[in-house]
Parts: sequence; C-alpha cells; structure tokens
Amino acid sequence: MHVIVIGGGTGGMCLAHGLRKAGVSVAVYERYGSRSDGLYGYRVGIDPTGNSALRRCLPPELFRTFVATCARTPRHFNVFTQKLRRTATFPLRDDRDAVDSERSVSRATLRQVLFTGMDDVVHYGKVFTHFEQHDDGTVTAYFADGTSATGDVLVAADGTRSAVRRQYLPHSEVKDAGITAIATRTPLTPQTRALLPEEARNGISLIFGTKGLIGMVHVMEFPWDADGRPKDPADAALLDAWSGLQYDNSRDYINLSVWSSHDRFPADTTERRGAELIRTALQVCDNWHPGLRRIFELSDPEAAFPMRIATSEPVEMWRPTNITLLGDAIHTMTPGQGVGANTALRDAALLCRELASAARGDKPLLTAIGDYEAEMVPYGFARVADSLDNNGTSGDDPLYKPLTGRLALFAARTYFSLTSRIPAARRKFLDDLYAYRGADGLPDELPGA
Ligand SMILES: Cc1cc2nc3c(=O)[nH]c(=O)nc-3n(C[C@H](O)[C@H](O)[C@H](O)COP(=O)(O)OP(=O)(O)OC[C@H]3O[C@@H](n4cnc5c(N)ncnc54)[C@H](O)[C@@H]3O)c2cc1C
Repeated sequence: MHVIVIGGGTGGMCLAHGLRKAGVSVAVYERYGSRSDGLYGYRVGIDPTGNSALRRCLPPELFRTFVATCARTPRHFNVFTQKLRRTATFPLRDDRDAVDSERSVSRATLRQVLFTGMDDVVHYGKVFTHFEQHDDGTVTAYFADGTSATGDVLVAADGTRSAVRRQYLPHSEVKDAGITAIATRTPLTPQTRALLPEEARNGISLIFGTKGLIGMVHVMEFPWDADGRPKDPADAALLDAWSGLQYDNSRDYINLSVWSSHDRFPADTTERRGAELIRTALQVCDNWHPGLRRIFELSDPEAAFPMRIATSEPVEMWRPTNITLLGDAIHTMTPGQGVGANTALRDAALLCRELASAARGDKPLLTAIGDYEAEMVPYGFARVADSLDNNGTSGDDPLYKPLTGRLALFAARTYFSLTSRIPAARRKFLDDLYAYRGADGLPDELPGA
C-alpha cells in the first residue's frame, strides 16, 4: 500500500512518521520550496492528546527531541485588563510528564522536528491542483509544476484552504468567524521582560480590554540562548545532535496578539504588513497600558501577521473512498480552545492506526478509512463548536456588540475574578481547562509500530 499525503504541516507530517514507523510506504507533497520556508514563529499549545499522538508516531529519539525543544511550561493562567490590572490568576499544574502535560511550542520548531529524518519522504515545491480516482482503486494527485503522483490512498492534510476538500467535498463550508487578529513577536530581553508583571512573565495571559478588544500574551523561553547554544547542559547532547536547529530561527520572545470583530479594525488590516501593521495594533489599542504598547513598538516588523479567523460547518457523513482528510482540511476551527493542532495530531494517530491495520490485511482499506472517518468527524466538529464558543473567537460574541459589550466585559471580568478566589470554582475551572486530557482513548503504542 502506498499513501500520498498532501501538505507537510502538523497533521500530515505526524501521519507520515507514524506510517513509516508502521512499515507503510508514504510520500508527502508540500507546496513550500524547502524545509526553511513558511516558518511561523508563533506559539502553539500541545496538550496530552497532541503529545500522545506524537509519541506514538515519531521515532522515540525524535519524540525526546520534541520534548527537549519545547519552551518553558507556563506556570499561571492570568486575566488582565487593558491597563494590566490583574483580574485573576490561576496556578497551572506542574507539568513534568512527557505526555500528560501542556507544552508551549514554537510552530517553527515543531515544523523542524517533524521534518527531521524525512528527506526521502517529503517532496517540496509541490502545489497540489487536483486529483483523479481510477477504476483500479488507485488515485493520482496532480501538481502545478506538471508532475503527478499515484498511490492507493490520498490524504488531504493541506490545511484550512484545502484544495483536496474543495474538489472531494465541494458542499463543505469554511466560514469567516467574524474576527480579525494581529499577532506580533517581540524579542525577550531584560528591557522587554521588565515591561510585564511577574505572573505574565511566567504564564499565559488573556487581556480583556474595553472597546471589545481581547489580547493574549505568551512569554516563550527556549532551552537555547540567543546564539542557539543549549542553556542547560542536560539537553546539550540532544540539541547538538539535532539538525533541525540549523533551520529554526526561534529565540526567546513575547507573543502579543489582539483580536476583535472585523469592524473594530481598519477594513484593509489583513493586507497590511510590517511597521504599518504594528501601527494599526497601536492605533486600536490606544488606551492599553504603556508596557503593552511598548511591546508592540519593539516587536519585529517582519514577524507581525494579520489574520481573519476561520471556522467550518459540520459536514454530513459521506461514503468512504480511497481519499480522506485530516486536521484543518476537514474541521478548521477558531483558536478559542487552542486545540486545532492537537486535533490534527489526534486525527493523524487514529488514521495511522487504521491504515496500518489495512496494510497488514486486518481489515479492508475502505472499512479502515470509514472507521477513521466515523470517529474523526464527530469529535472534530465537536471541537469546532467548543472553539467557536470560547474566548471571543466568534464575531457574534456579545463582547463585540455596541449595547451588550460593556455588560459582557463586566460579566467576563467578574466571572474570572470570582472563579479565581472561590476554591471550589477555581478547581472546576482548572478541571475544565484540562477537560480534553485522555479524550482520544487510543492505546499508548500503535499496533505494528
Ligand atoms: C492564531 C492561532 C493560534 C493557534 N493556537 C493553537 C494552539 O495553541 N493549540 C492548537 O492545538 N492549535 C492551535 N492553532 C491551530 C493550529 O495551528 C492548526 O489547527 C494546525 O496547524 C492544523 O494542522 P494541519 O496539519 O491540519 O494544517 P497545517 O499545519 O496548516 O498544514 C497544512 C500544510 O499544507 C500545505 N499546503 C496547503 N495547500 C497546499 C497545496 N495546494 N499543495 C501542497 N501543500 C499545501 C501548507 O503549506 C502546510 O504545510 C492555532 C491557530 C491559529 C490561527
């Protein structure tokens, strides 16, 4: 059996590792020209579901490298006003376990981990255009450079704007969630560190601002210094031996982002870049604390990025064929719950298990794909719905309405303040934060791996 994966992102690369580990032939076709292209330095939170999928699919040494390259785990979840007045602080769990923990990861670093040792599997510079299914049960993918690839299974792992999904499930809908966001990255230096209160330096912080603006601050500290040398001698051997560090430009940084309904930003915000985009953030956040404004001012113009947040509509189940989908290609979601990448990784581990069992002859291929889809579609779209409901990542949130906005802001701040002070409410809040732990229900190792 030969599997063609379109898209070398989080889910596609995890699947490719898992299939190779299980002895199944696999090739990945990625639109970027090389492993150093398309590097985004922003944070992604990997939870136990994501860790467990990576542990199952990556070779053990590479999983250890993944753990060694994560940023320092946040110690607090904080809520601030736009003036940096603290509304609430929740101490987070002391996550030391390699799998049962929340990890702060740079997207660029994770990407380099996933490309490690895969030079013979990944074909760069291949922009998928369309596919053809043949009577003999094979499928061919065509690329913009005029080449093609034929296999027994084609997996769409090509993200939110999936070209495979547009052809395969043309009735499926990706929708604008009504939110514009600007994300910035500021080098972490003694000067910028001093601009934040201590809890914010050691944690994840939500900013509930007036005028319908929400912000997020993450401080990312990596196990290597500004010159890329390991800070901790314990990791030195592993990091020295890891070729991915040569391609990875992640250095300690503060990730400050702001989002709101589209109407709170200039209409052409998503076309703006660099210094102009940073000026836009400063303009909409004109009443924010001088420390936060200074972080915007000191941010790297090259790294500032605008986003229009997307979500997807649930899709009716379809009849399984030798084409399937994973991650954002099928269930793109807002960042409200921070689980898009984790769900893509869960899909990858589950699909890997099913394809490996078909390759071994334990079940017919279409039954394996059907079993994967019957499980993935319900949990995937449940995460889409949960995510839309959270942290104001839907433009319909009362926070953004002219009349209810002030009331909703007052209610949100009061909720966090009371919840953090009443022990039973605080426990429940933290339990909810970790609600997805163990939700994947997959065994620890992939059969046949
Ligand atoms: C602001 C923000 C914050 C987030 N924070 C979190 C978080 O904390 N935790 C979390 O779990 N998730 C988070 N997410 C979501 C997460 O980043 C995505 O859900 C995840 O990357 C999806 O993985 P994927 O493999 O499906 O797609 P991607 O990682 O997007 O990979 C798709 C790949 O396909 C390639 N591709 C696209 N089109 C083609 C084509 N035509 N031909 C060939 N290749 C193609 C792309 O270049 C890319 O490499 C966040 C998202 C956003 C926007």
